[in-house]
Amino acid sequence: MTNYYISTRNDQIKMSAKDAIIKGFSDDKGLFVLPDLSDQQVNLASLIKKDYQGMAADVLSILLPDFSEAEIDECLHNAYDHSFSDERITPVESVDNFHVLELFHGPTSAFKDVGLQLLPELMRTALSPEQRVMILAATSGDTGTAALAGFKNTKQMGISVFFPDGGVSPIQKQQMLTTKGDNTNVAAIDGNFDDAQTNVKHIFNDADLKQRLGKDINLSSANSINIGRLIPQIVYYFNAYKQLVDAGKVKLGDPISFTVPTGNFGDVLAGYYAKLLGLPVKKLVVACNSNKVLADFFTNGVYDRNRPFFKTVAPSMDIQISSNFERLLFYKSGGDAAYIKSLMDQLETTGKYEVTPSLLASIQKDFACGFSDDQQIEASIKEVFDKYHYLMDPHTASGYSVMRAAQAQDPDTPMVLLSTASPYKFVDAVADAVLGSHDDDPIKTTQAIFKATGVEVPANLAKVWELPEDQAPVIEPSQMADFVYQRSMEVFKHD
Ligand SMILES: *Cc1c(COP(=O)(O)O)cnc(C)c1O
Repeated sequence: MTNYYISTRNDQIKMSAKDAIIKGFSDDKGLFVLPDLSDQQVNLASLIKKDYQGMAADVLSILLPDFSEAEIDECLHNAYDHSFSDERITPVESVDNFHVLELFHGPTSAFKDVGLQLLPELMRTALSPEQRVMILAATSGDTGTAALAGFKNTKQMGISVFFPDGGVSPIQKQQMLTTKGDNTNVAAIDGNFDDAQTNVKHIFNDADLKQRLGKDINLSSANSINIGRLIPQIVYYFNAYKQLVDAGKVKLGDPISFTVPTGNFGDVLAGYYAKLLGLPVKKLVVACNSNKVLADFFTNGVYDRNRPFFKTVAPSMDIQISSNFERLLFYKSGGDAAYIKSLMDQLETTGKYEVTPSLLASIQKDFACGFSDDQQIEASIKEVFDKYHYLMDPHTASGYSVMRAAQAQDPDTPMVLLSTASPYKFVDAVADAVLGSHDDDPIKTTQAIFKATGVEVPANLAKVWELPEDQAPVIEPSQMADFVYQRSMEVFKHD
């Protein structure tokens, strides 16, 4: 295999893993990928005997070929030894005839923590002494919170988070405003999430800003378009398998399936990487909410974002451009960068593209897809709590009915449902589902859920309302570049 990353849209753009992580995404707007993983397989039998950090070291050593073993080990121990509340990092809970992979035991109680505890370590290792990085993140809530927690007080790095004013849950806003470090910056945008996201992408290509910042201050991304954020997520698929084998529920080598609630397609793409690396995965079942661009694609091969946008009870999945789907198309087209570029150009100009029937068939071989609207999500939360006394957050719940449909097709393959957030991060929808209503005060709603269900509130969420909070300025999208410039000067003025 080749040891360097290329752009999904141009195989002449080549980069080491370290440079790919520092840059975040390619100047031609493509995403960095290792072009060929065909002869790269983990040794599954030996891998699943290791702890989380050990399994992660096996996976990272394949995908980060220019990191030394010692560098990888140090990154993994710094990221995972102390910041997760469960020693398995991502524990599996068995419920009825399926298994829930809980990804929310990190410092902000969202699955983004798994990637965003490790990304700063990888980036620190990749930077040369004179380099600085300002991380930019547009967020609908979870990415910003987890990125602030991961990057706060790191050397050579700063972070700027932009969230839509009034567009995040009260708990998420409180988390962001109380995660304070000497290099953290948060601003509310007078606009919606798409405005924030689009402008962050513009800033990456803003030549004037880059010149003002100088050659040593780089801009990079904390979203899953950054391969350094995506690679850590591959590990928990192996960790799920290990736990099922240890519990005697799966025999080593037998296939299992996963159901994954999706937004940017990062989480489920990590599952596909796990499969490419040798995990016996039968199907990856993708779940959407009412923003079901992908569910429609899986039936007809047409990716079409020309449709109304819905604000749902699973807001972290309210997305119409699933950025990481581009990486899947790249692999499934046999690495045809010119073809991927033509599809993505069509998406940008017309809002849609159609793939060849053979490409669609190849995707359908490994993936299935469905969706849950808000009513279905709340019905699923209630059903699973009433029947099995397991409490899901609305994102996880969007996967439940989709998973049940897949199990009906294939009842014998063990099924793992990925749980992407603590139910206490989205208390209004959970209370509506389980109690029939919610209070305007999120603290009261949290207490009511705890009283009715007995499910513990994660410690970080229980104390977040007592922490002193900063104010976030409200700025226009046109002011974002200046904000980044000024904050970069403040953060990096001492070194
Ligand atoms: C980010 C997020 C998702 C979607 O994950 P992708 O990697 O973007 O597909 C789902 N649920 C929650 C709670 C999230 O924060």
